[in-house]
Amino acid sequence: MTTITTVLGDSREAKRTYPDGSFDCPYCTYPIIAPVTQCSNPWCEAHPKLSAEALIAIRADKAAHAAEVSRWEAMNRIRIAAAAQRAEAHRQWEREQVAEAKRRGACLRCLFQSGWERVKFIRHRGRCPKQPLTEHNEELFSFTISRETKP
Ligand SMILES: [Zn+2]
Ligand SMILES: [Zn+2]
Repeated sequence: MTTITTVLGDSREAKRTYPDGSFDCPYCTYPIIAPVTQCSNPWCEAHPKLSAEALIAIRADKAAHAAEVSRWEAMNRIRIAAAAQRAEAHRQWEREQVAEAKRRGACLRCLFQSGWERVKFIRHRGRCPKQPLTEHNEELFSFTISRETKP
């Protein structure tokens, strides 16, 4: 098996090898063309000219970055969960307002007011100002029909 070893002594086996003995660097996937056996990618952790100090610094940097990313992801998950919880609480509040409005016989069109979680329980004597006239007429019409068709 073809392996690449870093200056710090850790090594990885090449995952991709070719019939002529070439392979892809297991650290950076850079092609290593036979008869060369070391990675020549200057950004690779396994570059033979890299000093131990430099590799330690690079890995510390990567670890810090990965920790930063996972902290950020954890924060993001918390934010998303909190937002979903707030949204569900709001839907629950809306359902309760609708139930209360129905219980009081209040107008559902006028129930939710502008602003955050504001409601008014209004009982109109006549037509709701928010009800389209056509709809109102249809209601009146069907009401009249049902009265007229009653024996
Ligand atoms: Zn490499
Ligand atoms: Zn209304």
